[in-house]
Amino acid sequence: MPEAPEMEVVKDFLAQNLVGNEVLEARVLKPSVLRSLQGNIQQDLVGRVFTDSSRRGKFLILTLSGDRVIAINPKLTGGLQYCRPKQRVLKRTCILLNLSGGSHLRYTDDRQMGVFYYVSNDQLEDVPGLGDQGPDVLDDIGLEDFKSRLKGFHGEIKGILTRGRVLSGIGNAYADEILFDAKVYPFKRRKQLSSDELRRIHHSSRQVIVDATSVVRERMNGQLDHKMRDFLAVHNKGGQECPDCGNKISQITANKRITSYCRRCQPGMLIKN
Ligand SMILES: [Zn+2]
Repeated sequence: MPEAPEMEVVKDFLAQNLVGNEVLEARVLKPSVLRSLQGNIQQDLVGRVFTDSSRRGKFLILTLSGDRVIAINPKLTGGLQYCRPKQRVLKRTCILLNLSGGSHLRYTDDRQMGVFYYVSNDQLEDVPGLGDQGPDVLDDIGLEDFKSRLKGFHGEIKGILTRGRVLSGIGNAYADEILFDAKVYPFKRRKQLSSDELRRIHHSSRQVIVDATSVVRERMNGQLDHKMRDFLAVHNKGGQECPDCGNKISQITANKRITSYCRRCQPGMLIKN
């Protein structure tokens, strides 16, 4: 799943490369990912110019001339390609935009779990899941604000972080990284967290994403759908050595989601669901 670091770099890349391009042609190869509140995009998109690229949590927001917005929620399997037209169209390509600058923007999604919304500016707030996200993880919200936002949520801290209502942009992989950095057991319940643990989670949330964004920025190099996760400390590294203490990293799969953590650095009692 693309999370805040990848989305942030993609957003900046598109601000530099996509903005100013006119759409010459729009092709919908897999209509199931498309939710248009503005009719047939194959007609309506043509002639519009990209004017801005921004991000809100896990949504990429691409603004076009004439009051149109594309909002992409890639979820687990969506991604973008910005490539030359002659590059082979992959089977997972769902939507393809041919641009005046001589490139293609392609939305790919092999399981078609993500959604490509096409709306007006006013309709943006109607996009499901967009408006009810918490502040972005890169917004510098203060500790007291963070703590009071957390209060409304019950259950395990990792689940709360990935839901995106307290802070947005954190998915399964970076929730593991944040909790490892904060040295907090991922299955600890919110009510059991000490004030020192809360302080550490607040600090690590932003810091881990800032650091990861700069690594991804250095290495992505225009390959927008390239997921770089090899530099992570613990996520999906079960059985390998913890970079802090050398203990073996534990890995648990529940509801098809992997959680990786170090039992020594992040002690806690495992309660099976
Ligand atoms: Zn450790």
